[in-house]
Amino acid sequence: MIELPDANILPLSLEHNFWTWSAQKRISPIPVTRAEGVYFWDVDGKKYLDFNSMVMCVNIGHGNEKVIDAICDQVRELPFAGPGFATRPRAILGEKLAEIVPEELSRFLYTTGGADANENAVKLARAYTGKHKILTRYRSYHGATYGAIALTGDPRRLAWEPAVMPGVVHFWGPYRYRSTFHMDLPEVDDERLRRDYLNHLEEVIQYEGAETIAAVMIETVTGTNGILVPPDGYLQGLRDICNRNGILLITDEVMSGFGRTGKWFAVEHWNVVPDIMTMAKGLTSGYAPLGAVAMKQEIADTFKDKVFEGGLTYNGHPISLAAASAVIEVMQQEQLVERSHQTGLFLKKKLEELMSRHPSVGDVRSIGLFGAIELVKNRETREPLAPYAGTSQPMVALRKYLLEKGVFLYTHWNVVLLIPPLIISEEQLNEGISIIDEALSITDNAVE
Ligand code: PLP
Repeated sequence: MIELPDANILPLSLEHNFWTWSAQKRISPIPVTRAEGVYFWDVDGKKYLDFNSMVMCVNIGHGNEKVIDAICDQVRELPFAGPGFATRPRAILGEKLAEIVPEELSRFLYTTGGADANENAVKLARAYTGKHKILTRYRSYHGATYGAIALTGDPRRLAWEPAVMPGVVHFWGPYRYRSTFHMDLPEVDDERLRRDYLNHLEEVIQYEGAETIAAVMIETVTGTNGILVPPDGYLQGLRDICNRNGILLITDEVMSGFGRTGKWFAVEHWNVVPDIMTMAKGLTSGYAPLGAVAMKQEIADTFKDKVFEGGLTYNGHPISLAAASAVIEVMQQEQLVERSHQTGLFLKKKLEELMSRHPSVGDVRSIGLFGAIELVKNRETREPLAPYAGTSQPMVALRKYLLEKGVFLYTHWNVVLLIPPLIISEEQLNEGISIIDEALSITDNAVE
């Protein structure tokens, strides 16, 4: 490795590099040097509890020796082969993925991450159906490349409009706490949520024309936009609407996949099989970049005789494929999906306790180790503690306190996300939750 004193990491990083999702003048990255399990350390030796699995991806935890060995072995055997080659890691991963995804999804197209997985899913759906429109939901994130940002239903799209992928139409999905269609109902039951949001979708399809719509694409459980778990029956209803209208169902499991929700993939909670499913993040637990598009055989067959006009230099990079297979093995050996479910029950209980103690907590939501705390100024009016697409002094103070105390997590406007590695113990979870508990006194003081 090229030598560089720890003290130079931050200043030199700031000198020449351009940073994403940031105003360059305001960037203040943590200079990280080492990570192990659910923790990482900065150059000063300060320890952080990783409540965001870095970027919601290190599902198996940091520094797993089995995955590191698999990567090193692959580098020694064959560090690179072009996407058109058959390689050992490619042969192995296809088989491993087929074991864990819903049975009908039997073909896998590899990509470099989640955004291009979603863009390829769109290409496949358009080619298979011969139709062009894609319906996606408001309050969704599908990636930052030009096509994927067009699919996205949150303000991250607005900076790049006109978004260049034509034919994307957004619709509303169920968000119980702030249900667009039920503003006058403080509590809305599953049945009503399911019915009204499915009716809304049917109406959108009617106006757009089923004969023009290739696919509906959804995050099975919405991630950054607040851990929005669909009501029971919603996904089944969506599947049924798609079937009746000759529309494909694409589920984006980039964040909700690989055990995050207590199942391998979130669709399993509702026994729904999509036609196409995208994945990334947890696929390699962040040990190497990789995404994948899982599809039904009949969709792959569109290209039996016709050429699939698509590909990138690093589709199916051997190092990433080897990392993915090793990650799946680790997850199976350590039963991390079951563990996510079990520890998730503990997380749910802890979140409810926080809600009972803190007036600034308007709502808590979780499924597996995918949790959120929604903060409000006023529980009656549900006024958010930070405005839509913005922040506020109490949210900034909350984040600052947590970071000072060594809890690393992601906040989205007025929502705090809890997305730790699946290996986290109840004790470690408690360690972070007690610091969040202290920190919430800051937001409680802002309650009106
Ligand atoms: N889809 C979802 C649900 C995501 O959360 C993300 C990333 O956060 C993406 C797609 C894009 O993935 P990537 O950043 O690997 O392109």
